[in-house]
Amino acid sequence: GYAAMGRQARKLGANTFAFFTRNPRGGSVKALDEADVAEFLDKAAENGVEGPIVAHAPYTMNACAADPGLREFAQNMMRDDLARLEHTPGNYYNFHPGSHVQQGVQTGVALITAQLNSVLLPGQRTMVLLETMAGKGSEIGRSFEELAAIYDGVKYNDKLRICFDTCHVNDAGYDIVNDFEGVMEQFDKRLGKDQIAVFHINDSKNSMGAGKDRHANIGEGTIGFDTLRHIVHHPDFPGIPRILETPYRPDPENPDKTLPPYKEEISLLLQK
Ligand code: FE
Ligand code: FE
Ligand code: ZN
Repeated sequence: GYAAMGRQARKLGANTFAFFTRNPRGGSVKALDEADVAEFLDKAAENGVEGPIVAHAPYTMNACAADPGLREFAQNMMRDDLARLEHTPGNYYNFHPGSHVQQGVQTGVALITAQLNSVLLPGQRTMVLLETMAGKGSEIGRSFEELAAIYDGVKYNDKLRICFDTCHVNDAGYDIVNDFEGVMEQFDKRLGKDQIAVFHINDSKNSMGAGKDRHANIGEGTIGFDTLRHIVHHPDFPGIPRILETPYRPDPENPDKTLPPYKEEISLLLQK
């Protein structure tokens, strides 16, 4: 539950955490445990959880699916998740905008904005984060323009923010390695730098523009340690949650097991 996640974050040297609102591959959900939420809120400061926490919608949620039944499923899931998150106000709900599956970018964007217009409420206290995507398959959100088009279509777009995923932006074709400031300038023009609410700090197994989306461990991919460290310490983004989604490593003591790399990667990145 929430309380346990807060304690775990502290052990890793983290001050925030991300979690899935339900099984990432889709489907069912446990009822919100009010006592657990209360304990989490109570212990958040004590456990060093300072920033907003970041809920991630299931990967299977496709707001721009071609099948109306799947779209309705996605819409109900998002509405339900947002209602639950209002129990812990002031936090974030991060989702992948969707895949247009041959309907085209325009239709995809229109369907995503329609979903957001049907679930966002003027009084809600949760920000909904559109993630920058790699452009794998027919993913929407591979360019800053596509994300801006979603903002343009959403009535309560003051409830929207961006989750900037370094692996995805690299794989989508932006040169964050040689020209991070230039990429940021483009981002600022299309969306506004102040819209970045969260960074997903991941290295990439693929070259810039590959349109692939395979995360690598910090310093072991095509983005590299220096660029990721630069982003983590960037003066324009103080206090913004930075979340690792790097792959687990083989356990040297047990070939059948893998271990999370987060503790080591956090301390590596935080070195001045
Ligand atoms: Fe994501
Ligand atoms: Fe991500
Ligand atoms: Zn990814």
